[in-house]
Amino acid sequence: MKNQINDHDVLELTNKSLEKILTKTNLEIPVMPTIIISNEPNMIDGFKSLSYYNEQKNEIGIAYGGNDISLISREIYEEIFHYIRHIYCPTSYNEKIARAIEMKELRKEICEINTRLIIEKETCVNNILKNFINKNFYSDMVDEFYGFLGQRFYDKNVKYNNFLNHSIDSLSTKSKNIQNMISAQIQIICSIGQNLKQCKRERKQKELLDILQKSIDKYYYLTKKGYDTERLKKINQAHEIGYTHASNFDLDKINDWENFFSLPSFEVRKRFFCKNPNYEKL
Ligand SMILES: [Zn+2]
Repeated sequence: MKNQINDHDVLELTNKSLEKILTKTNLEIPVMPTIIISNEPNMIDGFKSLSYYNEQKNEIGIAYGGNDISLISREIYEEIFHYIRHIYCPTSYNEKIARAIEMKELRKEICEINTRLIIEKETCVNNILKNFINKNFYSDMVDEFYGFLGQRFYDKNVKYNNFLNHSIDSLSTKSKNIQNMISAQIQIICSIGQNLKQCKRERKQKELLDILQKSIDKYYYLTKKGYDTERLKKINQAHEIGYTHASNFDLDKINDWENFFSLPSFEVRKRFFCKNPNYEKL
């Protein structure tokens, strides 16, 4: 029989975990996050998501339905690490802006939308930038590096089971599935093109429309189910890279947690996304 847990238990578990992490790391954070507990998966921008940390709202959401207590705890620890990282390194959002501005896709998007909409330019650009960052850096690899260290922190300080390999294995299976979905979508798009050519050649007007409609339905069926594959791919890649580097990390080497959580993202990548991690002054 599964233990019956409820919102109240999970809220208490989250608060206790937060307390425990702050004590063990010697951190004092004046701004506490809002904690939202739900039995069902959360929906973020129309996407099914389990637990999350929302930087803009400073909100931790824990979805516990169907999971056992040790899996829920691991998620709680991951989201709390995301929260602490954001508090100590809010500039990481600025870094995202800097990276976004470098991307030609952003310029393209701004040009396209600006020509379509005649509204106050500044608000327009700001909104595009915000949406672009949400879309492209929804899940950043450095953020996920910290997130997975949260899970490892839980393993080390609370539970001694090692889930590392399990987490990384399940991510590569996910990668393969996403890759398959992308191939399916590409195939559909290609077949639309081929069928259209064929029909045009034979001038079968009605058939042409039928094929087009069917393909479009099928394509939208795949994407509407929440499978925005490009986005899923990016999210999964960020997790895979961040988690992999975090799994080689030696938590015992950190004495100054405040300094560690404050490192700018580029420095995290330079120091820890490599073969010989550099723990100097941490
Ligand atoms: Zn995460």
